Amino acid sequence: MSTPRTRVAPSPTGAPHLGTAYVALFNYAYARSMGGSFVLRIEDTDQQRSSVAAEQEIIAALRWLGLNWDEGPDIGGDVGPYRQSERSERYRHYAEQLVASEQAFYCFATPQELAAMREEQRARGETPRYDGRALQLSATEVARRRAAGEPHVIRLKVPDVGACEVNDLLRGAVSIDWRQVDMQVLLKADGRPTYHLANVVDDHEMRISHVVRGEEWLSSTPKHLLLYQALAWEPPQYCHLPLLRNPDHSKLSKRRNPTSIFYYRDKGYLPEALLNYLARMGWSMPDERERFSLDELIEHFELSRVVLGGPVFDLVKLDWLNGQWLRELSPLELQRRLVDWRLNPELLSAALEHLQPRMERLSDLVPLGGFLLGAPPEVDEAHYRALKPPLERQQAVLQWALWEVEERRFDFERDALFNAMTAAAGALELSLRDCFAPLFVAITGRPSSISVVDAMAMLGPDLCAERLRTALTTIGAPSKKTRRQLEVLRGQVGKASAADVGSDGREPE
Ligand code: GLU
Repeated sequence: MSTPRTRVAPSPTGAPHLGTAYVALFNYAYARSMGGSFVLRIEDTDQQRSSVAAEQEIIAALRWLGLNWDEGPDIGGDVGPYRQSERSERYRHYAEQLVASEQAFYCFATPQELAAMREEQRARGETPRYDGRALQLSATEVARRRAAGEPHVIRLKVPDVGACEVNDLLRGAVSIDWRQVDMQVLLKADGRPTYHLANVVDDHEMRISHVVRGEEWLSSTPKHLLLYQALAWEPPQYCHLPLLRNPDHSKLSKRRNPTSIFYYRDKGYLPEALLNYLARMGWSMPDERERFSLDELIEHFELSRVVLGGPVFDLVKLDWLNGQWLRELSPLELQRRLVDWRLNPELLSAALEHLQPRMERLSDLVPLGGFLLGAPPEVDEAHYRALKPPLERQQAVLQWALWEVEERRFDFERDALFNAMTAAAGALELSLRDCFAPLFVAITGRPSSISVVDAMAMLGPDLCAERLRTALTTIGAPSKKTRRQLEVLRGQVGKASAADVGSDGREPE
């Protein structure tokens, strides 16, 4: 029997997600435990949301964790390219082949027509789904409309009776009614594939033997199995991992827990502790020990020991485990880790440029700049109340800043942040000083400090987002209605630059 090949296939949108690390870890551990290969594939079919910067962050985050792959977009391999945007021709080829064998079909329905169809279905109390209307078109009609250049997609034919049986390595046979499965678009009107087609084609061509992925994909698996059958390919083994959960058991979300892998790096967690913790989320050692290394995990790994049931991501437990790992380090290694983390000349020079003019003694470094390393001094609502703008204006500023931080993670520079917050001040009809005041408190823990946008650039997007969220918990977030109004306002401001709002580019002191 050949050795297994597993993969992690993240979509490069937004911050590198803890869920990607979790899925990568189990794929990695399984492949390594069986002497197999682990592949990184980038699923960037959604051109609008994908970015090269996000791909680079995924690569850096997985490397930081030490989950190294044998084949991937950055190192190549025999069955590449490993980036879906470079594989478009194949998907088109297979989609056409499926049409030729009558397992897929052209559909010319316009978005308006589909919306009306769904509306009617809802009015009849039915679950909206594609009704197969294009299957009624004659071959000549299809040929004529294609020749006339009418926009069209290719959809998968799905049986309307019976059920699909998915064999999941953890759950056994799972039966999913075909009537719950939509006639999925495989190739979009712009000729690009959807996730479902690209994913199946790539898993086949990359000879993936085991698809270990989050349970949110279980309901898509019938479509995937149908594609394997239609293309006469052998499907891989499927294993759907339980999703990471917030303490209230909802799906892990950044509203409740930081989800960016780099948040954990920047906050000072050790990669081995984070991996250990993620492994414990879905797996337990035969002897139930809590602390184990990646090598120990691989040595004892068995997919069948993955526990179902929503594992709750608990920061208190992670802190405890990180403490265990940290105290094991030799003093010299601990020093090295601190330098790798933030205690390095780069951060120090960037910080000193701003701190030096405010220092009277060398020892002022810590009280003035400590917030660049650890959490800022704790503040409560009274600290915000002491500022000039009313609390609800401050809420608006902090919410606005949080949106900017999230959207600018790949362009996280002081000027960009400064311009964005200057535009916010204009839109919210606040003076620069009043607009920046709550930011100072949220980010640095004091009403005045070194330039807050420079501080933000030094802290990076994940720590800034955490501090802004904490501030919004302290003084309360704007209501849903206000948030909507703010969003409209932000849309109007667009990308107004500091120059447009008449600022000289200097921050209020
Ligand atoms: N691109 C999908 C994701 O972002 C991959 C799902 C799969 O592993 O099939 O999670």
